[in-house]
Amino acid sequence: MQLKDRIVLITGGARGIGRGIAQACLEAGARVMIADLPARDADWRYKLAGSEELARTVTELSPLGTIQSTTVNVTDGQSCDEAVKATVVAFGGVDVLVNNAGVVDSGAISNFSEAQWDRIFAVNTKGIFLMSKAALPTLKLSKHATIINTASIAGKQGYANMSAYCGSKFAAIGITQSLANELAADGIRVNAICPGMVGTAMWLDHLLPTNTTDNAGKDADFEALMRRMIPLGRPQTPADMGQAVVYLASAPNVTGIALSVAGGYEMA
Ligand code: NAD
Repeated sequence: MQLKDRIVLITGGARGIGRGIAQACLEAGARVMIADLPARDADWRYKLAGSEELARTVTELSPLGTIQSTTVNVTDGQSCDEAVKATVVAFGGVDVLVNNAGVVDSGAISNFSEAQWDRIFAVNTKGIFLMSKAALPTLKLSKHATIINTASIAGKQGYANMSAYCGSKFAAIGITQSLANELAADGIRVNAICPGMVGTAMWLDHLLPTNTTDNAGKDADFEALMRRMIPLGRPQTPADMGQAVVYLASAPNVTGIALSVAGGYEMA
């Protein structure tokens, strides 16, 4: 029970990697608030989560411990303030903030719109700033305060047709290092995880080159591709990311790192 009674707030927590982090934190004894968008946002390249997924995840994970949900749009400062407030009202504080919400889009720069670029940076980069700023006064009251950002292996290596996403994730690592230096005096540790390839909506509904449309077929194509690409021979899972977050949340002398969890695909 490495996180016994710690209070963990996870953005983008309704599904995918955020859900895996929530599960691992519950199993480590934490009380968990998952936060995600209020309604399905039809306006992106693939479907994002919404209140339905938030409610479903709370129901599914409740047997493991204390979990509640709140809505947030991490691109909106007031909404971030409200999500922190909801966590304080529910559990009395915040010890661990996990800035995990993110969006991906890919494409050659000549066809990439300014709106696509701005949205990626608004969620993946400005979202970290707004949520961290909103949570800071509350984190300062905690003896175990820590921020963990979900960056990416795309924050350590640039990939073709991914300039916005890679740029936003390099920035996430830069913000992590800056805040680690800045907040060390307050006893607040700041780290990042860098997931490799996890079969979530980002891959299965957008990045995966496949002609298959059914979910089982997409899963199989993803697995086969990752088995070939990744040294340890399998894709990463939300549980792998949860394990890394529990480690970083409970490692008292670790700050400023960007931990690749990528089966050896990215070794830096
Ligand atoms: P996902 O799409 O399943 O999860 C992302 C979550 O963020 C969704 O629930 C979505 O609704 C939420 N979100 C999007 N915009 C938001 C906003 N404005 N406010 C609040 N929530 C918002 O995909 P995932 O793979 O679970 O992604 C989680 C994180 O992991 C992201 O930061 C992503 O960039 C990162 N990541 C994923 C992979 C991968 O292979 N899947 C690899 C590296 C990094």
